[in-house]
Amino acid sequence: MRLVAKFGGSVLRDAEGYRRAAKVVKELKENSKVVVVVSAMKGVTDSLLKVSGRLPRDWRKYVEALRLRHMKVLEELNASPKRFKEVEELFDELTKVLWALEILKESTPKTRDFVLSFGERLSSRLMAAALEAEGISAEAWDSRDAGIITDENFSEALPLYDIIEKEVPERIEPLLDEGKVPVVTGFLGSTREGTITTLGRGGSDLTATILGSALRADEVRLYTDIDGIKTANPKEFPDAVTIRELSVEEAIELAHLGAKRLHPRTFEPVLRRHVDVRVLSLYEPHGENTLISYGKRGPMLKAVAIMNGLSIITVKGVGMVGYKGVAAKVMEAASKVGANIFAISQPISELSISLAVKNTKAGQVSNAIKNVMEGSGISVETYVRKGVTAVSVVGRGLEEPDYVAEAFKPIAGSPVLMLSKGPLDLSLTVVTTEKSSRGLAKKFHDLILDEMKSYYGEAK
Ligand code: ASP
Ligand code: MG
Repeated sequence: MRLVAKFGGSVLRDAEGYRRAAKVVKELKENSKVVVVVSAMKGVTDSLLKVSGRLPRDWRKYVEALRLRHMKVLEELNASPKRFKEVEELFDELTKVLWALEILKESTPKTRDFVLSFGERLSSRLMAAALEAEGISAEAWDSRDAGIITDENFSEALPLYDIIEKEVPERIEPLLDEGKVPVVTGFLGSTREGTITTLGRGGSDLTATILGSALRADEVRLYTDIDGIKTANPKEFPDAVTIRELSVEEAIELAHLGAKRLHPRTFEPVLRRHVDVRVLSLYEPHGENTLISYGKRGPMLKAVAIMNGLSIITVKGVGMVGYKGVAAKVMEAASKVGANIFAISQPISELSISLAVKNTKAGQVSNAIKNVMEGSGISVETYVRKGVTAVSVVGRGLEEPDYVAEAFKPIAGSPVLMLSKGPLDLSLTVVTTEKSSRGLAKKFHDLILDEMKSYYGEAK
């Protein structure tokens, strides 16, 4: 078997976290070749962000605090002098870079990515030390050495899959054949010229799936602090359970709804090469977990998500009926003010169009729409309803014509302000009042739990 095991910042808090991760790798290695991907230690990317923009006067203090934290882990892991030296060198480099940026008063997306890269680069050395303490021969690699090549869109760089799929196996396979464990920095990429880029916050999961698909791994394992992806946020719904299996499409839908801090592009490589991804807890690696794979699977409904703090903007007027291009104007107005549209709805009468946007953008969007409409001589009224909530239910059943009506049933009794569901959507979104949102979400959640029971049978 060939596995990619990624350890997130949430479980890499201290030496104990690295030790646990190394023990898991040791076990996996008994019958698999393993590539390890690491995030920065918990909170380190956030600290680096503070010194990656305009430098605070006391930036040296931040760096010193980070240095002590990393050194402590190395000490507790009884790391070799080589690893101490590597970490010291990285801190020297970081100090020099920040000093130069201070003098130059420079901060660009490129310099920011470079500063942020230290989190994962340091973490990979700590993980190598932890593996060595378990008697495993490890090699800490920056993503550029591993062949993770991206475009030059610093801070949100896009992986260049054609190059990656050629480079990664060429570089990593020889190491695996020698029985070594490569420890690759998550979150980072490199341009073709070798300049460091980042893949966007939370991008280590994406690094893992990129490597998994390029290496045609049997499975990519994302080790985190919870036992899989849940049917609902357990803080809001204590009866939420782990979703045992998800299709990639459902996982993508959930990632975009903000589930489990998943990077929205995590599953892109999975679609390319159909590699399986498992989300599991580092604390209970043999406990419940979520398997994400290609193709329909599992119960009809999987999860419910709540998005608060939205507003509905409605444009209404007989002037709109049959006028071609009104919808385009409305959307354009929203995009001009940089508003993200979360849901759209238009009845077939064409008498109105409604958009859901963040509360903070509502005023700007409605003004922009008024201006555009006036400019085009279309007379409309614009209404803003602030403080609404979107409740979404996700699952393959929403794509099944014979099932979809079931998913609508829980809506009865709740105020419906807006509905959104297209033929290819694996989610149904109901925009309702903030007050009713929890009750509605609970009804959806109860239906999800029922669907699970009937799919897997009562006895777990
Ligand atoms: N360290 C990066 C972040 O905090 C990447 C990651 O953790 O996935 O966003
Ligand atoms: Mg993370």
